[in-house]
Amino acid sequence: KTMTTAEIRADFLHFFEEKGCKLYASSSLIPEDPSLLLANAGMNQFKEYYQGTKTMREIGATSCQKCLRTNDIDNIGDARHLSFFEMLGNFSFGGYSKADAIAWAYEFITSPEHLGLPKDRLYMTVYENDDEAIELWHSHGVEYDHISRLGEEDNFWAAGPTGPCGPCSEIYFDQGPEFEGDAPGDDGDRYLEFWNLVFTQYDRQEDGSMPDLPHRNIDTGMGLERIAAIMQHKGSNYEGDVMRSLISLGEKLSGVEYHASSDSTDKSLRILADHSRAVTFMIGDGILPSNEGRGYVLRRLLRRAVYHGRLLGIQGAFLTTYAHEVTEVLGDQYTALVENQSLIDGIISAEESRFGATLNAGENMLDAELDKLGEGATLSGEVAFKLHDTYGFPIDLTREIAEAAGHCVDMDAFDQAMTEQKERARQSANRDAWGKANNVWAALSDKLASTEFCGYDSDDVDGCKV
Ligand code: ATP
Ligand code: MG
Ligand code: MG
Ligand code: MG
Repeated sequence: KTMTTAEIRADFLHFFEEKGCKLYASSSLIPEDPSLLLANAGMNQFKEYYQGTKTMREIGATSCQKCLRTNDIDNIGDARHLSFFEMLGNFSFGGYSKADAIAWAYEFITSPEHLGLPKDRLYMTVYENDDEAIELWHSHGVEYDHISRLGEEDNFWAAGPTGPCGPCSEIYFDQGPEFEGDAPGDDGDRYLEFWNLVFTQYDRQEDGSMPDLPHRNIDTGMGLERIAAIMQHKGSNYEGDVMRSLISLGEKLSGVEYHASSDSTDKSLRILADHSRAVTFMIGDGILPSNEGRGYVLRRLLRRAVYHGRLLGIQGAFLTTYAHEVTEVLGDQYTALVENQSLIDGIISAEESRFGATLNAGENMLDAELDKLGEGATLSGEVAFKLHDTYGFPIDLTREIAEAAGHCVDMDAFDQAMTEQKERARQSANRDAWGKANNVWAALSDKLASTEFCGYDSDDVDGCKV
């Protein structure tokens, strides 16, 4: 059976409405919850229902939520992670039970009227001590050898550092032996996680304690791009209908064919498809480029997209072409994209041309510096800092270009130079009254910067310790 993204989305929401859930529109990518930088799961907008400060008349809710996960930005090269994605979900705030949630999930994915997935290719994982979930799956015919127990990291879910959390059970699809991987939950793509059923029952506090929530809840999330790829018999998120149309646009703009050139051009095509879509949705929700918080995430994504367009040899400004394709493909579902199209175009164009100029100047300097280095030598932190300071050339781009040429960047020295610069700014600001006022801003911006983009924080990037 084959289904389009739009068909899956509509069928899911309708299925849960029939079960008595109330249909909610996606909330904005800008969460109401101040502890959260960007919406990262369907349950975000229902937090108060979980905590019991709000009650719902219906037995639960269903939605298709826009999500953005900065922690996955480093993973865009793989087959299953996007920065922006759509999450289908069904929710209960004491209304229906864990048994119902499991029964309905199994019905939806296996019934020929809905997804009709073959049962022998489905695998479930549960939290290590959750015998109840094992017995529930088994009661519907899932064999014990298709159910495994996983620990806290995989199967205990929390929306954030505090708030509702609990054990979960995830559903995996076996994509077949041509994919790498031995078991659900490993790093391979053979067993692809596509739906997470969370049984939220605790409310984690600042001090780490976990009192019970007022009732036992259900919070599920199914990645729409993942299930679309499965339903379209594709091994990657990027090859379902929606993402593939953006890959195709990149092919057209660059003249580079996907899966026909090199891994690095494929990766650039994926980054472009992903980042351009994320950027379009972020601006559509009113986020503007800036140097902190979510505006910083936007700026980084946008600039990285522009940079990868360059790598692919795309000439001139091109990012609004992507935005138009995103709106073409998803505007029926997300009408804000249509309503805000001129805003989206304007912001993208301005940022793209500003960054284009930066790139030209910075790239010339960086190329000259890299030419001077011996094979495998490390690029000095001072040069990286100068690129940042003089040309506004983002450090992650410096690293990406340097690493592509086989050089690591001395990040300790770069960080040191950044710290010294902040210190100098602070001291000069202390000298007079005007400076004192500036100092307040400096402190404030430090504070805001603590919500800074952490998408590139990883221990090991292409063999370079950071
Ligand atoms: P993974 O282990 O693959 O990173 P996850 O366990 O972090 O996924 P959950 O927090 O359980 O994901 O989110 C629920 C569902 O949302 C996942 O089962 C998956 O289908 C989808 N999902 C999560 N992260 C992404 C992403 N970066 N891109 C696309 N879909 C995603
Ligand atoms: Mg994840
Ligand atoms: Mg997972
Ligand atoms: Mg999961």
